[in-house]
Amino acid sequence: MASVVRDWRLQLREALPEFFATGRGSRRSGPVLPDCGEGWCCVVDRLCVRIAAALEEGESFRFESIGQRDGALRVRWAGRLSAASEAAVRSAVDLAEARSMCVCELCGARGQLYRADGVLATRCPAHAEGTPARSPAMTNVHLIHVTVKGRLRVIVGARYHFDSDSFVEIDDVASLRAEA
Ligand SMILES: [Zn+2]
Repeated sequence: MASVVRDWRLQLREALPEFFATGRGSRRSGPVLPDCGEGWCCVVDRLCVRIAAALEEGESFRFESIGQRDGALRVRWAGRLSAASEAAVRSAVDLAEARSMCVCELCGARGQLYRADGVLATRCPAHAEGTPARSPAMTNVHLIHVTVKGRLRVIVGARYHFDSDSFVEIDDVASLRAEA
């Protein structure tokens, strides 16, 4: 199991070494590796493909960290990008983080966020422990970055749709929270 996990991470880093290179001035001693379970390899792969597609000639991108936190994929990154490319990268990261909360981190099957002894994890029914951490009304609701006219970024509430791998904006997130 451990060797399989190691494989997909190393393969990804071999394919995109600049994405996983150690940053200048970073306190990290070695290159970055995805710090999450094998079940999310497709989520991370798709994220990397989207970022690579967003980059224009001469632009740079690298992960500062990418891994599981509170049951979701969390990404910190740095790079030199145009406003349009940065917007595309932020959108790709938002989608990956939302998708990770629909996919079992252990096996890649459809899942949801569970809480067990105060620990959050996204799991399929077979791997689940504890109880669902989000009410049905708040499941797949996220705050995402939206670009207006190519530059201005605002944060809006949106619901993630797994099948289309896209967000639909929610007009009134506060009312959802009230319902939940
Ligand atoms: Zn599973």
